[in-house]
Amino acid sequence: MRTRRGFFQALAGGAAIVCAAQQGRAAPAKAPKKKVSKAKAKYQDHPQDIRACATCNLYLPPDQCKAVVGQVSPDGWCELFDLAD
Ligand code: SF4
Repeated sequence: MRTRRGFFQALAGGAAIVCAAQQGRAAPAKAPKKKVSKAKAKYQDHPQDIRACATCNLYLPPDQCKAVVGQVSPDGWCELFDLAD
């Protein structure tokens, strides 16, 4: 049988593990307040390895982006890429 103290110690240990895991995770990128040009974002019309607009948090289907001016392709990519969760 587990004591009350043991229960709370186990609970605190679990919370510490969760906090440590969250700290190791990169914070999601925020969209800039003002959109940037494709050139400044180094946008390209093809994926960067497996990363593409279609899997980016800043992508607005079917062809817009919260961070980059103009139309983007779901298969495109730029340096502001932010992986969707
Ligand atoms: S990869 Fe770049 S252009 Fe594509 S949706 Fe994300 S931020 Fe916009």
